[in-house]
Amino acid sequence: MKSLYDLNYEQMQQMAIEHGWKAFRGHQIFQWLYRSRVNEIDEMTNLSKETREQLKEEFEMNPLTLITKQVSHDGTTKFLFQTKDGCLLESVMMVFDYGNSVCVSSQVGCNMGCAFCASGLTKKKRDLTRGEMVAQVIYVQKELDAKNQRLSHIVVMGTGEPFDNYDNVMNFLSTVNHDRGLGIGSRHITISSSGIVPRIYDFANEHTQYNLAISLHAPNNELRNQLMPVNKAYPLEELMKALDYYSQENNRRLTFEYILLKGVNDQVIHARQLAKLLKNRNAYVNLIPYNNVDEKEFKSVSYQEAMVFYDLLMKNNVRCTIRKEHGNDIDAACGQLRIKEIRREK
Ligand code: SAH
Ligand code: SF4
Repeated sequence: MKSLYDLNYEQMQQMAIEHGWKAFRGHQIFQWLYRSRVNEIDEMTNLSKETREQLKEEFEMNPLTLITKQVSHDGTTKFLFQTKDGCLLESVMMVFDYGNSVCVSSQVGCNMGCAFCASGLTKKKRDLTRGEMVAQVIYVQKELDAKNQRLSHIVVMGTGEPFDNYDNVMNFLSTVNHDRGLGIGSRHITISSSGIVPRIYDFANEHTQYNLAISLHAPNNELRNQLMPVNKAYPLEELMKALDYYSQENNRRLTFEYILLKGVNDQVIHARQLAKLLKNRNAYVNLIPYNNVDEKEFKSVSYQEAMVFYDLLMKNNVRCTIRKEHGNDIDAACGQLRIKEIRREK
Protein backbone atom coordinates (compact mmCIF):
# COMPACT_ATOMS: atom_id res chain seq x y z
CA MET A 1 0.00 0.00 0.00
CA LYS A 2 1.23 3.47 -0.85
CA SER A 3 1.91 5.97 1.93
CA LEU A 4 0.74 9.58 1.79
CA TYR A 5 4.38 10.44 2.49
CA ASP A 6 5.30 9.02 -0.93
CA LEU A 7 3.81 12.07 -2.65
CA ASN A 8 5.52 15.43 -2.93
CA TYR A 9 3.53 18.68 -3.08
CA GLU A 10 2.83 18.59 -6.81
CA GLN A 11 2.01 14.87 -6.76
CA MET A 12 -0.40 15.41 -3.86
CA GLN A 13 -2.29 18.00 -5.88
CA GLN A 14 -2.25 15.71 -8.89
CA MET A 15 -3.64 12.87 -6.75
CA ALA A 16 -6.48 15.15 -5.59
CA ILE A 17 -7.34 16.08 -9.19
CA GLU A 18 -7.29 12.42 -10.24
CA HIS A 19 -9.86 11.72 -7.50
CA GLY A 20 -12.11 14.43 -8.89
CA TRP A 21 -11.31 16.79 -6.02
CA LYS A 22 -9.86 20.27 -6.31
CA ALA A 23 -6.07 20.62 -6.32
CA PHE A 24 -6.55 22.60 -3.12
CA ARG A 25 -7.49 19.35 -1.33
CA GLY A 26 -3.96 18.11 -2.07
CA HIS A 27 -2.61 21.33 -0.61
CA GLN A 28 -4.67 20.76 2.56
CA ILE A 29 -3.52 17.17 2.96
CA PHE A 30 0.10 18.26 2.52
CA GLN A 31 -0.32 20.86 5.25
CA TRP A 32 -1.87 18.30 7.61
CA LEU A 33 1.08 16.00 7.04
CA TYR A 34 3.90 18.53 7.25
CA ARG A 35 2.61 21.54 9.19
CA SER A 36 0.21 19.93 11.68
CA ARG A 37 2.07 16.62 11.53
CA VAL A 38 -1.02 14.53 12.29
CA ASN A 39 -0.73 10.82 13.04
CA GLU A 40 -4.00 9.69 11.47
CA ILE A 41 -5.94 10.56 8.35
CA ASP A 42 -9.02 11.06 10.58
CA GLU A 43 -7.28 14.03 12.19
CA MET A 44 -7.55 15.93 8.87
CA THR A 45 -10.73 17.58 10.06
CA ASN A 46 -11.31 19.95 7.17
CA LEU A 47 -11.76 16.96 4.84
CA SER A 48 -15.19 15.33 4.59
CA LYS A 49 -15.66 11.92 6.17
CA GLU A 50 -16.12 10.48 2.70
CA THR A 51 -12.82 11.94 1.48
CA ARG A 52 -11.02 10.62 4.55
CA GLU A 53 -12.50 7.13 4.07
CA GLN A 54 -11.37 7.12 0.47
CA LEU A 55 -7.86 8.19 1.48
CA LYS A 56 -7.74 5.48 4.15
CA GLU A 57 -8.68 2.84 1.60
CA GLU A 58 -5.83 3.79 -0.69
CA PHE A 59 -3.07 5.14 1.52
CA GLU A 60 -1.42 4.35 4.79
CA MET A 61 0.15 7.05 6.93
CA ASN A 62 3.33 5.92 8.66
CA PRO A 63 5.32 3.21 6.85
CA LEU A 64 7.80 2.79 9.76
CA THR A 65 7.62 1.37 13.28
CA LEU A 66 10.19 2.34 15.90
CA ILE A 67 12.06 -0.67 17.32
CA THR A 68 14.64 0.95 19.60
CA LYS A 69 15.94 4.38 20.44
CA GLN A 70 19.30 5.16 22.04
CA VAL A 71 20.27 8.55 23.43
CA SER A 72 23.93 9.53 23.80
CA HIS A 73 25.34 11.78 26.50
CA ASP A 74 25.94 14.43 23.82
CA GLY A 75 22.28 14.44 22.73
CA THR A 76 22.82 12.29 19.63
CA THR A 77 19.79 10.02 19.29
CA LYS A 78 19.71 6.89 17.23
CA PHE A 79 16.47 5.40 15.96
CA LEU A 80 16.09 1.85 14.67
CA PHE A 81 12.98 1.44 12.50
CA GLN A 82 11.25 -1.48 10.87
CA THR A 83 9.44 -1.30 7.54
CA LYS A 84 6.11 -3.03 6.84
CA ASP A 85 7.97 -5.91 5.14
CA GLY A 86 10.30 -6.41 8.13
CA CYS A 87 13.43 -4.56 6.96
CA LEU A 88 15.53 -2.69 9.52
CA LEU A 89 16.90 0.79 8.99
CA GLU A 90 18.34 3.51 11.13
CA SER A 91 18.38 7.27 11.46
CA VAL A 92 20.48 9.45 13.72
CA MET A 93 19.59 12.86 15.12
CA MET A 94 22.50 15.10 16.03
CA VAL A 95 22.46 18.32 18.01
CA PHE A 96 24.82 21.05 16.80
CA ASP A 97 25.19 24.63 17.91
CA TYR A 98 23.71 25.65 14.54
CA GLY A 99 20.65 23.41 14.88
CA ASN A 100 19.27 19.88 14.84
CA SER A 101 20.26 17.56 12.05
CA VAL A 102 19.02 14.13 11.00
CA CYS A 103 21.04 11.53 9.16
CA VAL A 104 18.70 9.58 6.86
CA SER A 105 19.17 6.09 5.42
CA SER A 106 18.44 5.67 1.72
CA GLN A 107 18.58 1.88 1.27
CA VAL A 108 18.27 -1.33 3.28
CA GLY A 109 21.92 -2.43 3.29
CA CYS A 110 24.32 -1.26 0.60
CA ASN A 111 25.85 -2.89 -2.47
CA MET A 112 28.87 -0.64 -2.83
CA GLY A 113 31.01 -2.86 -0.61
CA CYS A 114 33.39 -0.28 0.87
CA ALA A 115 36.01 -2.15 2.87
CA PHE A 116 35.64 -0.13 6.09
CA CYS A 117 31.85 0.29 6.28
CA ALA A 118 29.35 -1.53 8.49
CA SER A 119 26.47 -0.81 6.09
CA GLY A 120 28.16 -2.74 3.34
CA LEU A 121 28.31 -5.86 5.53
CA THR A 122 24.81 -6.72 4.36
CA LYS A 123 24.01 -6.58 0.65
CA LYS A 124 21.28 -4.22 -0.39
CA LYS A 125 17.89 -5.79 0.27
CA ARG A 126 16.03 -3.02 -1.46
CA ASP A 127 15.82 0.72 -2.01
CA LEU A 128 13.85 2.71 0.53
CA THR A 129 10.70 4.32 -0.81
CA ARG A 130 10.16 8.07 -0.79
CA GLY A 131 7.70 7.67 2.07
CA GLU A 132 10.13 5.61 4.15
CA MET A 133 12.73 8.38 3.86
CA VAL A 134 10.19 11.15 4.58
CA ALA A 135 8.90 9.16 7.58
CA GLN A 136 12.40 9.12 9.16
CA VAL A 137 12.47 12.92 9.01
CA ILE A 138 8.90 13.30 10.24
CA TYR A 139 9.52 10.96 13.16
CA VAL A 140 12.48 13.02 14.33
CA GLN A 141 10.61 16.30 13.85
CA LYS A 142 7.74 14.94 15.96
CA GLU A 143 10.18 14.10 18.75
CA LEU A 144 11.48 17.66 18.53
CA ASP A 145 7.93 19.06 18.52
CA ALA A 146 7.59 17.90 22.13
CA LYS A 147 10.48 20.24 22.99
CA ASN A 148 9.25 23.02 20.72
CA GLN A 149 12.29 22.59 18.52
CA ARG A 150 12.79 22.42 14.81
CA LEU A 151 14.77 20.13 12.61
CA SER A 152 16.99 22.42 10.57
CA HIS A 153 19.33 20.13 8.63
CA ILE A 154 19.18 16.85 6.74
CA VAL A 155 22.12 14.71 5.67
CA VAL A 156 21.60 11.67 3.47
CA MET A 157 24.52 9.80 5.04
CA GLY A 158 22.88 6.80 6.68
CA THR A 159 22.96 3.30 5.28
CA GLY A 160 22.81 3.11 1.51
CA GLU A 161 24.14 4.87 -1.55
CA PRO A 162 21.72 7.71 -2.34
CA PHE A 163 22.81 7.90 -5.98
CA ASP A 164 21.88 4.20 -6.35
CA ASN A 165 18.31 5.23 -5.39
CA TYR A 166 18.41 8.53 -7.22
CA ASP A 167 14.78 9.23 -8.16
CA ASN A 168 13.38 8.32 -4.76
CA VAL A 169 16.00 10.39 -2.94
CA MET A 170 15.39 13.45 -5.12
CA ASN A 171 11.64 13.10 -4.70
CA PHE A 172 11.94 12.69 -0.93
CA LEU A 173 14.11 15.80 -0.72
CA SER A 174 11.67 17.85 -2.79
CA THR A 175 8.98 16.95 -0.22
CA VAL A 176 10.89 17.92 2.92
CA ASN A 177 12.37 20.98 1.18
CA HIS A 178 8.99 22.36 0.05
CA ASP A 179 8.12 25.65 1.71
CA ARG A 180 4.51 24.60 2.22
CA GLY A 181 5.75 21.63 4.23
CA LEU A 182 8.72 21.35 6.57
CA GLY A 183 10.58 23.95 4.55
CA ILE A 184 14.06 22.66 5.29
CA GLY A 185 16.28 24.91 3.18
CA SER A 186 18.20 23.42 0.24
CA ARG A 187 21.47 24.70 1.63
CA HIS A 188 20.72 22.78 4.83
CA ILE A 189 20.41 19.51 2.93
CA THR A 190 23.47 17.38 2.10
CA ILE A 191 23.69 14.27 -0.03
CA SER A 192 26.75 12.09 0.47
CA SER A 193 27.77 9.79 -2.38
CA SER A 194 30.56 7.32 -2.97
CA GLY A 195 30.83 8.73 -6.49
CA ILE A 196 28.51 7.17 -9.07
CA VAL A 197 29.64 9.34 -11.96
CA PRO A 198 26.57 9.33 -14.27
CA ARG A 199 24.37 10.40 -11.35
CA ILE A 200 26.76 13.26 -10.54
CA TYR A 201 26.06 14.63 -14.04
CA ASP A 202 22.31 14.15 -13.52
CA PHE A 203 22.54 15.92 -10.18
CA ALA A 204 24.57 18.76 -11.67
CA ASN A 205 21.97 19.24 -14.38
CA GLU A 206 19.09 19.54 -11.89
CA HIS A 207 20.60 22.71 -10.41
CA THR A 208 19.17 22.16 -6.96
CA GLN A 209 20.95 23.99 -4.17
CA TYR A 210 21.44 20.82 -2.10
CA ASN A 211 25.01 20.25 -0.95
CA LEU A 212 26.91 17.34 -2.41
CA ALA A 213 29.63 15.59 -0.41
CA ILE A 214 31.81 12.95 -2.03
CA SER A 215 33.33 10.08 -0.04
CA LEU A 216 36.89 10.09 -1.30
CA HIS A 217 38.92 8.27 1.39
CA ALA A 218 41.95 7.72 -0.88
CA PRO A 219 44.05 10.04 -3.05
CA ASN A 220 45.09 7.50 -5.72
CA ASN A 221 43.32 4.84 -7.76
CA GLU A 222 45.28 1.91 -6.40
CA LEU A 223 44.29 2.55 -2.80
CA ARG A 224 40.79 3.71 -3.65
CA ASN A 225 40.19 0.52 -5.64
CA GLN A 226 41.02 -1.44 -2.50
CA LEU A 227 38.87 0.62 -0.17
CA MET A 228 35.96 1.45 -2.48
CA PRO A 229 35.11 -0.96 -5.33
CA VAL A 230 33.06 1.81 -6.98
CA ASN A 231 36.41 3.31 -8.00
CA LYS A 232 36.99 0.41 -10.42
CA ALA A 233 33.92 1.48 -12.37
CA TYR A 234 34.50 5.22 -11.94
CA PRO A 235 38.18 5.99 -11.31
CA LEU A 236 39.43 9.27 -9.88
CA GLU A 237 39.99 10.94 -13.29
CA GLU A 238 36.34 10.39 -14.26
CA LEU A 239 35.11 11.31 -10.80
CA MET A 240 37.03 14.60 -10.78
CA LYS A 241 35.86 15.43 -14.30
CA ALA A 242 32.23 14.95 -13.27
CA LEU A 243 32.78 17.00 -10.13
CA ASP A 244 34.40 19.82 -12.09
CA TYR A 245 31.32 19.86 -14.31
CA TYR A 246 29.05 19.98 -11.24
CA SER A 247 31.13 22.72 -9.68
CA GLN A 248 31.09 24.91 -12.81
CA GLU A 249 27.47 24.25 -13.65
CA ASN A 250 26.30 25.10 -10.12
CA ASN A 251 29.04 27.45 -9.02
CA ARG A 252 29.64 25.33 -5.95
CA ARG A 253 32.58 24.38 -3.84
CA LEU A 254 33.45 20.66 -3.77
CA THR A 255 33.23 18.87 -0.44
CA PHE A 256 35.12 15.64 0.17
CA GLU A 257 34.92 13.22 3.05
CA TYR A 258 38.13 11.48 4.03
CA ILE A 259 38.13 8.93 6.85
CA LEU A 260 41.59 8.72 8.42
CA LEU A 261 42.42 5.01 8.63
CA LYS A 262 45.52 4.34 10.66
CA GLY A 263 48.42 3.13 8.53
CA VAL A 264 46.23 2.94 5.41
CA ASN A 265 45.55 6.43 3.99
CA ASP A 266 47.02 8.70 6.67
CA GLN A 267 50.67 8.96 5.59
CA VAL A 268 52.58 12.03 4.44
CA ILE A 269 52.52 10.74 0.87
CA HIS A 270 48.71 10.53 0.98
CA ALA A 271 48.40 14.11 2.16
CA ARG A 272 50.69 15.20 -0.69
CA GLN A 273 48.77 13.20 -3.27
CA LEU A 274 45.49 14.58 -1.96
CA ALA A 275 46.80 18.13 -2.19
CA LYS A 276 47.91 17.48 -5.76
CA LEU A 277 44.53 15.99 -6.69
CA LEU A 278 42.67 19.00 -5.34
CA LYS A 279 45.10 21.65 -6.59
CA ASN A 280 43.42 24.52 -8.46
CA ARG A 281 40.03 23.28 -7.38
CA ASN A 282 37.62 25.03 -5.04
CA ALA A 283 37.60 22.12 -2.63
CA TYR A 284 37.10 21.42 1.02
CA VAL A 285 38.02 18.25 2.91
CA ASN A 286 36.25 16.88 5.94
CA LEU A 287 38.66 14.65 7.85
CA ILE A 288 36.62 12.01 9.66
CA PRO A 289 37.67 9.90 12.64
CA TYR A 290 36.92 6.23 11.94
CA ASN A 291 34.21 4.64 14.05
CA ASN A 292 35.49 1.17 14.82
CA VAL A 293 33.40 -1.66 13.38
CA ASP A 294 33.74 -5.06 15.11
CA GLU A 295 33.94 -6.99 11.84
CA LYS A 296 36.63 -4.74 10.37
CA GLU A 297 40.32 -4.47 11.15
CA PHE A 298 40.65 -0.78 10.36
CA LYS A 299 41.59 1.52 13.20
CA SER A 300 41.12 5.23 13.57
CA VAL A 301 44.04 7.62 13.95
CA SER A 302 44.40 9.54 17.21
CA TYR A 303 43.45 13.19 17.35
CA GLN A 304 47.15 14.12 17.31
CA GLU A 305 47.72 12.02 14.19
CA ALA A 306 44.71 13.63 12.55
CA MET A 307 46.19 17.04 13.36
CA VAL A 308 49.43 16.13 11.59
CA PHE A 309 47.49 15.21 8.44
CA TYR A 310 45.40 18.36 8.78
CA ASP A 311 48.49 20.56 9.06
CA LEU A 312 50.03 18.94 5.99
CA LEU A 313 46.92 19.64 3.94
CA MET A 314 46.66 23.22 5.18
CA LYS A 315 50.32 23.82 4.33
CA ASN A 316 49.55 22.61 0.82
CA ASN A 317 46.63 25.04 0.52
CA VAL A 318 43.83 22.51 0.98
CA ARG A 319 41.07 23.78 3.19
CA CYS A 320 39.92 21.16 5.66
CA THR A 321 38.39 20.47 9.07
CA ILE A 322 38.46 17.53 11.44
CA ARG A 323 34.94 16.32 12.05
CA LYS A 324 33.91 15.98 15.66
CA GLU A 325 32.67 12.56 16.68
CA HIS A 326 29.06 12.26 17.72
CA GLY A 327 27.38 9.56 19.75
CA ASN A 328 30.38 7.25 19.84
CA ASP A 329 28.92 5.64 22.98
CA ILE A 330 25.81 4.49 21.05
CA ASP A 331 27.24 3.00 17.84
CA ALA A 332 26.13 6.02 15.89
CA ALA A 333 28.30 5.22 12.88
CA CYS A 334 26.39 4.40 9.77
CA GLY A 335 25.01 0.88 9.85
CA GLN A 336 26.24 -0.14 13.27
CA LEU A 337 23.01 -0.38 15.23
CA ARG A 338 21.29 -2.22 12.42
CA ILE A 339 24.12 -4.75 12.22
CA LYS A 340 23.89 -5.35 15.98
CA GLU A 341 20.16 -5.98 15.74
CA ILE A 342 20.61 -8.37 12.80
CA ARG A 343 23.35 -10.23 14.73
CA ARG A 344 21.11 -10.43 17.81
CA GLU A 345 18.27 -11.87 15.72
CA LYS A 346 20.57 -14.54 14.31
N1 SAH B 1 26.87 5.80 0.69
C1 SAH B 1 27.13 7.16 0.89
C2 SAH B 1 26.42 7.74 2.09
C3 SAH B 1 26.39 6.90 3.33
S1 SAH B 1 27.94 6.63 4.15
C4 SAH B 1 28.61 7.43 0.95
O1 SAH B 1 29.37 6.49 1.02
O2 SAH B 1 28.98 8.60 0.89
C5 SAH B 1 28.24 8.24 4.88
C6 SAH B 1 29.69 8.48 5.21
O3 SAH B 1 30.11 7.69 6.33
C7 SAH B 1 30.63 8.16 4.07
O4 SAH B 1 31.60 9.16 3.91
C8 SAH B 1 31.26 6.87 4.55
O5 SAH B 1 32.47 6.64 3.94
C9 SAH B 1 31.37 7.12 6.04
N2 SAH B 1 31.57 5.93 6.86
C10 SAH B 1 31.21 4.66 6.61
N3 SAH B 1 31.59 3.85 7.61
C11 SAH B 1 32.21 4.62 8.53
C12 SAH B 1 32.83 4.38 9.79
N4 SAH B 1 32.87 3.16 10.32
N5 SAH B 1 33.38 5.42 10.44
C13 SAH B 1 33.33 6.67 9.93
N6 SAH B 1 32.74 6.97 8.76
C14 SAH B 1 32.20 5.96 8.05
FE1 SF4 C 1 27.66 2.02 0.99
FE2 SF4 C 1 28.52 4.47 1.70
FE3 SF4 C 1 29.01 2.32 3.26
FE4 SF4 C 1 30.27 2.57 0.94
S1 SF4 C 1 30.46 3.95 2.71
S2 SF4 C 1 29.31 0.67 1.71
S3 SF4 C 1 28.70 3.50 -0.33
S4 SF4 C 1 27.02 3.19 2.78
